[in-house]
Amino acid sequence: MTLDFSAYPIIDHHCHPWSEDTKEITKETFINLMNMGGLSAEEARDPENVVHSEFTPMGRQILHLMAEFLGCSPKLSDVIEARNKRAAKNYWGYCGELFYDAGIEGLFVDDGYSEVSVGSGLARNNLEEFEELLTVPMRRVARIEPRFQTAVDESSSFDDFVARFDQSLEDAARKQRVIAFKSVIAYRSGLHIENPTDDEVRKDYERSKATRARDVKHIRDWYVRRVISRCKDLGTTFHIHAGMGDIDVVFDKCNPMQLYGLLKDPETRNTKVFLVHGGYPFSQEAAFYANALKNVYVDLSEMIPFASVPGAIEKTTQILDMAPPARVVFGSDGVVIPEIHWAGAKIGRRVLEESLSTFVRTGVYDEDEAHQAAKMVLAENARRVYKPW
Ligand SMILES: [Zn+2]
Repeated sequence: MTLDFSAYPIIDHHCHPWSEDTKEITKETFINLMNMGGLSAEEARDPENVVHSEFTPMGRQILHLMAEFLGCSPKLSDVIEARNKRAAKNYWGYCGELFYDAGIEGLFVDDGYSEVSVGSGLARNNLEEFEELLTVPMRRVARIEPRFQTAVDESSSFDDFVARFDQSLEDAARKQRVIAFKSVIAYRSGLHIENPTDDEVRKDYERSKATRARDVKHIRDWYVRRVISRCKDLGTTFHIHAGMGDIDVVFDKCNPMQLYGLLKDPETRNTKVFLVHGGYPFSQEAAFYANALKNVYVDLSEMIPFASVPGAIEKTTQILDMAPPARVVFGSDGVVIPEIHWAGAKIGRRVLEESLSTFVRTGVYDEDEAHQAAKMVLAENARRVYKPW
């Protein structure tokens, strides 16, 4: 028995924009994207690091897919040459061909950029321009941290900060029609989100105003709670980075287990909360919430395609072991070049085919149910929850 999900469209629930600058890429750009965090200019001069970077599972699996699509050998230099040649004619048309090939229906795009100094930051992109160039529809996900920092920087007092922050949420929801707010507090002070006192929040405001520090935990805990409690009225869901990521994540506080206090709090239960990145590698912890709490969902991005296909099959099986398929959504975390979004979609289907085959073989689902589950994860859940287009 083999399952074939190639006919099912995909909504990419979590990804990032890319720009015209990547119309032509170098081997080094590609290699940098294929390992977590990339190489600094100094690291890239060490041949030992180049060997490491040229041979990551992520890099190889994407190179093989690109070679097949472009009709060339999977040698890095051949793939990059063929890719640049094809992209040079009409970059956004080439992006459209990739999306058609992978059956991508549309994208949910994180508008975030790194508002404080971090090791491997995201650049700021013009999303209005990006949306016009895209050949598939997109909806915007509003990153909270830059909005928080801007409100602090521009405020004259704590009360003024609160008013500015609230207004920025309103503006995102009404003017930019965002479908979700997203927090990367896992990169700032960690996921152990508590209930700070008024005094603690005000002190952190003063410190943030003076230093733009990352680890102002009290006020960060405060804004996450404030946004979650407002999402329902604003007509959005809430996304939270859960699990590993770049090296500057607060690693000992990025396990979704740390979210227990926040997620079980009745105050947060009226908002749909998406654990972005499947909590990878702590996938079972993430999946538990999606079963036990009726407002929690798991997003598979980053794990697919940043982990290898065999690893992602195992983790996806662990997630589907506990989380009902109606609570799991596909995402790629594609970033900088469109090939990551495209490869993520192709790999995502493959991973689900393999994972759900196990569920069929062991009598959990019959074949029809496995197809239903795949359709839900790939696009139907996102369509049902967000009615995005
Ligand atoms: Zn991301």
